[in-house]
Amino acid sequence: MKITNVRTLRMGAPANDWNWLFVRIETDAGIHGIGEGSLQYKDAALKNEIKEFGRWLVGQDPFQTEYLWNAMHRQVTWTGGPVTMSAISAIDLALHDIKGKALGVPVYELLGGKVRCQVPVYANGWFHGASSSQEYTDRAKYVVDEGYKALKFYPFGGSQVATPERIDRGAALVETVREAVGSHVEIAIDVRAQLDMGGAIRAAQRLEPFDIAWLEEPVGFDNVGSLCEMARAVRVPIATGEQLYTRWEFRALLEENAVRIVQPDICHAGGISELKKIASAAETYYVTVAPHNSNGPISTVASLHLDASIPNCLMQEVFVAFLPLYNEMLTEPIVIEDGYASLPEGPGWGTDLNEELIEAYPPHSYAPVRPWEPYYH
Ligand SMILES: [Mg+2]
Repeated sequence: MKITNVRTLRMGAPANDWNWLFVRIETDAGIHGIGEGSLQYKDAALKNEIKEFGRWLVGQDPFQTEYLWNAMHRQVTWTGGPVTMSAISAIDLALHDIKGKALGVPVYELLGGKVRCQVPVYANGWFHGASSSQEYTDRAKYVVDEGYKALKFYPFGGSQVATPERIDRGAALVETVREAVGSHVEIAIDVRAQLDMGGAIRAAQRLEPFDIAWLEEPVGFDNVGSLCEMARAVRVPIATGEQLYTRWEFRALLEENAVRIVQPDICHAGGISELKKIASAAETYYVTVAPHNSNGPISTVASLHLDASIPNCLMQEVFVAFLPLYNEMLTEPIVIEDGYASLPEGPGWGTDLNEELIEAYPPHSYAPVRPWEPYYH
């Protein structure tokens, strides 16, 4: 089998102001595969990177996923980075879809088969529009009533400098949500790397009574020493990894025991090939994996195939507000019941993009740099 065509598809994501970017790889066997690399405001660069890789991929054997991954990763001196790694990720996903379809098996069968029959998921995006603590608790109770057993939110919104008032407000919101959902629902807290070390430690210490599942990106992701200091100073589990690429970038985190949970993103860290390896590396340190997933429907489905095949999957992130559009864009829906996602069945992803619907969601256009203010509270 040979690759005959590589092209990208973009659509506006209505729930936010960025785009979802898919790659469609076609073959001379009449089989096509779909991948995703959605990269927020850098999708013009990503589209071009995939186009450049595509010129080389035409004529290659789509079954040689390891060879193709390494060739794309190693072909220039300056490897890596978000644009290149998201392109490699999207292509790697599409190649696995092709291989599964050609062999007549779900992608998770290509990864060693399933180690679980369902994937535990956690809800993100359940709080959209909430500002008061009452609105947060109402929405938290609603999502728990829907069956979700874990949820995440961002109570310390703002930037690097944490005032006492801001820490108080965030901790109080977590306490309120904990009281609303009870002790059997997991609560994860995401800081989005927006605090300085002192503020992050103060925030974490205030959260210790609330038995949180993890504190995510309390400080930047790119200083393992600081993350270690953070992890030693507090008694809450630390998670990070959504902005890291490849097994090599996760290596120091694991070797230094800086985190209990890693969160690689299947659209950016290197695709399903690479996440399988990152998960195996994490397993040797008794670290669990909760794959980051804030993109579109193929990101979500591909993540579920990975989760099905790795013993140390903790939970899969799902933006619940996106689910209706995910399922509109897919030929077979993502099914989540009682806090668990069913494994997608059928060859490849077990579902496909409704490409004829993409035109109904024209891509957003935007400035490549967003307004940024480092020191607001
Ligand atoms: Mg995050």
